[in-house]
This record gives sequence, C-alpha cells and structure tokens, in this order.
Amino acid sequence: MTPANRDRDFTGRTLLAVFAHPDDESITCGGLLAACSDGGAFVALLCLTRGEAGPATATAPAALAATRTTEIGEAATLLGVRDVVVTDHQDGMLPWTDAAVVERDIRAAIARLRPDVVVTFGADGLYWHPDHIAVHERVAAVVSTMADQAPALYFATMPPGAVRAVFDRATARARAAGSTAPRQVLGIADPDAWGAHAAPPTLVVDVRAQANRKLAALRRHATQLDHDALSWLTDEDASLLGTEHFHLAGTRSGFIERLGA
Ligand SMILES: [Zn+2]
Repeated sequence: MTPANRDRDFTGRTLLAVFAHPDDESITCGGLLAACSDGGAFVALLCLTRGEAGPATATAPAALAATRTTEIGEAATLLGVRDVVVTDHQDGMLPWTDAAVVERDIRAAIARLRPDVVVTFGADGLYWHPDHIAVHERVAAVVSTMADQAPALYFATMPPGAVRAVFDRATARARAAGSTAPRQVLGIADPDAWGAHAAPPTLVVDVRAQANRKLAALRRHATQLDHDALSWLTDEDASLLGTEHFHLAGTRSGFIERLGA
C-alpha cells in the first residue's frame, strides 16, 4: 500500500448521508459515497421520503414509491452503500411535517450507526427545494444538540455550472442523434439553478475515479429520467460528474478531509 493509499484507508470509519428523495444521494455525492466505501468505510444512507411525488406523473403514488425505493436500493449498491433506510414521510411536505418526528428518525439513525461524518444538503437545498432545505435544517438541529458526541457535519452542494455542463453535453448528443433535446435534469428545467446559491466549498473532492459508478447509479433512478439530460450521457461524459463540493459546518472536521484535492 502506498502512502497515498494508506492515507485513504477508512477502515473502521462510518459515514451517514441524509437526504430527502431517491436520486439526491447519487447526484449530490455519489462519488464521495463510493470513494469512502472504496477506502473501507461503512457507508449508510437515510432517505426521508420515497419520492412518490416525483415527475413520473402517469404512475400512481404508491406504485411510484415502491419503484423508487427499489431504484435507490440498486443505486446504493452500485455506490458501495451498505445500509439504506427509507422512511415514509410525505414527499413534498417535509417543511410542514412535524419537525420533532423527522428529527427523531435522524437521531435514531445517528444513534444506531454512530457515524464519524454526516453529509446532508446545504442551506440552498441545491436549488431552493423546500424538502431539501427542511432536511438541511433538521439534520443541523439534531447534530447541534449532540455536543461532544456530534459527528463531523458536511453540507453537500452542487458545483455551480456543473449541471449546465451536463445539460449542454446531453443536448449536443441528442442533436447529433437527430433527437429532441433534453428538457430537464432530475425534474428541474433550469440547469443553471443547481448550485447557483451554494456556499463556497471548504472541501473539493475529485471523484473522477468513481464517476462511472456515479453515472450508473443515476441511471438506476429510471423513473426520474424522462426527457432527462442524464439519460444522454455516455460513460465518456461521466467525468462531468467528477467534482463534488462540501462545506464543513462548525469546526469538527472528519475523515473525508483526506479525500480533498
Ligand atoms: Zn431531492
């Protein structure tokens, strides 16, 4: 093992990612999850809804919830996530769901897993998505009560311009194939919205080595890829997904700092 590899030996470490919907984990930090798993960390995921209000409007909510739960399980497996919990909070309603109930679920996951690092959304919710912002607030609230027992908390943000680059590459590929251009990225029509108001990163992680798995994980979220730019990306394009940004909350940093560029 070279010194560089030893520096990325995460055996005995645990990372917990907390997000709102199936697909958030893959687009936001799929590379980080895979890199931590590659290094021997135990990687876990808590997803607070089943995404039943997603854009596959032809599908009944209960059926969509079941399908998206399957999709996140498959995506997680590709990313090396070994523990996936999906709870039944109502998609689209997290800001109006009893905060104490949501925080109970987050607290339970942290108590069970005792993670060294927790990763969740930043205050911008990627593009001001209310569910994302609610998860950011609930996770921060839980961790803030833990004093010396608190894990290192990181907010995952989208590098500004990254989703625009994906959208433009996909549009070029669609046009070259004589097809109509993609309309959205994971249900969001404006590719410039992603990360437009993200806090500056304190940690930039090069995940090009994991980018093909990240793209493969995103493809598992098939219900979200109707007329979607991501469905046009080839493996050659995966490097467009190869940089991830994180913002350390507070002063207690975690083992993922060793992945910094
Ligand atoms: Zn989401």
